[in-house]
Amino acid sequence: MLYFDYTATTPIDEEVLETYIRVEKNFFGNSTSLHKFGQMSNYMYEKASDEIRDVLKIPDHNIVFTANATEANNLGIYGLVLKQESGKIITTKIEHPSVYEVFKDLEKRGYEIIFLDINQDGIIDLQELEKHLSKDVILVSVMWVNNIIGSVQPIKDIIELVQEYPKTKLHVDCVQGMGKIIPDFDFSEIDLMSISAHKIYGPKGVGALFFRKQIELERRLYGSEAQLGVKPGTISVGLAAALCKTLKKHLPLTKEHYQYVHKLNQYLRQGLSNFDYIVLNSGENASPYILNLSLKDLNGETLVHFLESHEIYVSTGSACSSKLKKPERTIYCLTNDVKRATSSIRISLSHLTTKEEIDKLLEILEKAKHV
Ligand code: PMP
Repeated sequence: MLYFDYTATTPIDEEVLETYIRVEKNFFGNSTSLHKFGQMSNYMYEKASDEIRDVLKIPDHNIVFTANATEANNLGIYGLVLKQESGKIITTKIEHPSVYEVFKDLEKRGYEIIFLDINQDGIIDLQELEKHLSKDVILVSVMWVNNIIGSVQPIKDIIELVQEYPKTKLHVDCVQGMGKIIPDFDFSEIDLMSISAHKIYGPKGVGALFFRKQIELERRLYGSEAQLGVKPGTISVGLAAALCKTLKKHLPLTKEHYQYVHKLNQYLRQGLSNFDYIVLNSGENASPYILNLSLKDLNGETLVHFLESHEIYVSTGSACSSKLKKPERTIYCLTNDVKRATSSIRISLSHLTTKEEIDKLLEILEKAKHV
């Protein structure tokens, strides 16, 4: 089996799994219980939170453990926006659905939302952002790394522009950047951000929302006061510890893994340049973990099933997941070409990927021409 879908999810790291099992077994008390077992669990939960704050260097941020990044994005964005009566919001046309659909909903509720376009590399135009910024903007939300094409947004420059407006908050979906790209900014400069453990060799079922301690979020869930009331309910101390472990283990390896995956990506691009029926959608400066391509004269669905018959798993994108063949939103924004946006596939890499696996993929792709 050749797995090339690491952007969708990653296998759990053994050490992270061991941490989860150990903590979940030994700290089973409810962290809100007043007795010793409860307090032991609460200590582990606080320890995980403090260590995450340390590793990300965000001493002045709250941490709320969520089920995943979808929940983190929803709780953060609705929480911030619904606290205000009105106001303008700036985001992009290529956000993940857990951000994009939230803004579509807020738009229906009467909020003015600007969806920024992208250039041919999948990057927003900073001048366009600057033009829309004003003291009426309550929130700017721009993802760090796009999950479809891997484009990396200029977060450092965005931070500088937003900081001109003290009342404007910046939300960054860090899911595909965390542990994969060395940031050119400090996480402490971002007002709200989200991550997901299962994208960085942690377990499914845990993500996190980080937000500055001064920020008050409107409640979206009602229950106890656990997790500042933002995400009430019993905390899984095991999952919190596992998220902490995966960050502590994988963040220091970011550069080493990046360099390795960058070489693999170059090798894959080189191999693909021989195929005249393929056009790349990921730019040269995109995250090396993601390579998106469209097929010129071949049906995307046919190719994906052909690859699957050879036990090669890539992401089908919207080309095959939907019978209606809806164009993939990011690819359509990038190319303005419905055909290209309905025949895209995403190959995603990892430090676990080998050159031999890429060779095998290229060999099978070569045969695909005759399908
Ligand atoms: N944001 C981005 C950029 C993503 O790639 C994903 C996962 N595809 C999410 C948010 C949502 O993450 P989760 O699966 O943890 O809800």
